[in-house]
Amino acid sequence: SKAEIGLIGLGTMGAALASNIADNGFDIAVWNRTSSVTDAFHANAGDLAARITPTQTLVDFVAAIAEPRAIILMVPAGQPVDDQIAALRPLLGDNDLIIDAGNANFHDTNRRAVEAGDLPFLGIGVSGGEEGARFGPSIMGGGKREYWDRVAHILSAISAKHETTACATWMGQAGAGHFVKAVHNGIEYADMQMIAEVYGIMRDGMGMDNAAIAATFAKWDQGPLKSYLIEISGKVAAAIDPATGQPMLDVIVDAAGQKGTGRWTAIEAQHLAAPIPAIEAAVVARNLSSQLETRAAGEALFGTGPRKLPHDALGLDTLEQALMVGKILCYAQGFDMISKASVEFGWDLPLPEIAKVWRAGCIIRSDMLDDMAQALGEDANRNLLFAPRFADIVKANHDALRQTVAMGALHGVALPALSSGLAYFDALRTARGTANMIQGQRDFFGAHGFARTDGGSGHHGPWGNS
Ligand code: NDP
Repeated sequence: SKAEIGLIGLGTMGAALASNIADNGFDIAVWNRTSSVTDAFHANAGDLAARITPTQTLVDFVAAIAEPRAIILMVPAGQPVDDQIAALRPLLGDNDLIIDAGNANFHDTNRRAVEAGDLPFLGIGVSGGEEGARFGPSIMGGGKREYWDRVAHILSAISAKHETTACATWMGQAGAGHFVKAVHNGIEYADMQMIAEVYGIMRDGMGMDNAAIAATFAKWDQGPLKSYLIEISGKVAAAIDPATGQPMLDVIVDAAGQKGTGRWTAIEAQHLAAPIPAIEAAVVARNLSSQLETRAAGEALFGTGPRKLPHDALGLDTLEQALMVGKILCYAQGFDMISKASVEFGWDLPLPEIAKVWRAGCIIRSDMLDDMAQALGEDANRNLLFAPRFADIVKANHDALRQTVAMGALHGVALPALSSGLAYFDALRTARGTANMIQGQRDFFGAHGFARTDGGSGHHGPWGNS
């Protein structure tokens, strides 16, 4: 009998996803550009081999799948996806569905949806890395709802489960799924960066060793910060390098890599005029981290100053509270951006469902997302910061964030994401800010006009330069 679904691209993610699909009882046909990879995948599939049909040519691959076909692409984002679609389409019927499951830029997915015309096409964001793809990722779908419905049973079956709820959700038309995945990655950047900044305070400001830092993260993972990222940060800090016997963290170069999805989020936020400073700061921090030589020259020229904080300047509880508030701020920013995109692109994105789909399977999974899903369920249009349950946490703990940022600033420990999160918070709780000065300046040099506090717009000042 023919396979229920096909998959192209047996790299890290594709092989894991294909195994997951077979493991869930679905027959799957697979094809890979390099045939030896296909053969090795099938040979090593163990019990799952019976449900996997390896194929050597695209024609055989297409013939091995039951009609109407559904075919997942798991190849590198960009041109390879366009090339693969171009190679595949002539072999397919008008009702056969192509699903791009890579990390596509959502603008590309929008374009491909238009190019597909009436031919079935979906773009789905898959989060959770290799482990997630193999045992249950978080899946964010975009495209026509009827196409999603055709494969929803398979995608739900292979997805992560939060209790019994599948983490596979249709987000909206065209690029909506890949857009939500990009914002997920932006939030991931900010969450990781804030954890790294707190690690910096513990290491440089408090002089803690890796074992003590690991124990602190492990403790926090039992409290309100409980999350996959806190858990793995503790494990990373605890690990010992087998080659040298040194703490693993101490032998890792401090230059962060990136594949660009955080950058897309920052760029898109600017287009949408959506303020996400903590996420932008995290992207900037990764960019700066790779300037190793400049940073070394900077340290030689300026020195680092006394980075050690005074004894008892900050307690670990204060750091935990600061991180809690920072985390709420970066999620509030991410969801605010999603809500702006929803209006701008006419997507009607389901915000509470987005928080739910991130509760399991993906990198940013955490207990706090459950509360976020509830808060967004009460009012999806309200900034998360204003939801009573989060407002209460922020009211009780923002002073801890302020103390942490202040101590970092006084002692030269860079805290870009935490401090920009704090500035965002302070701006949001200031009814009368300072943009009146900006408007005065703009009117002075450009006659741009301003609104008056006592009414009316388009007024000009008595600058005497007209
Ligand atoms: P890999 O590099 O491990 O695998 C790439 C696969 O694509 C290989 O099977 C390769 O075949 C094939 N391929 C490469 N170029 C072409 C081409 N021009 N035409 C046809 N096939 C091609 O990548 P990953 O599995 O890591 O990533 C796949 C996608 O998933 C990417 O979009 C990535 O961003 C996304 N992703 C990755 C995650 C991760 O944690 N790795 C997490 C979430 C998404 P061959 O054997 O012939 O080289």
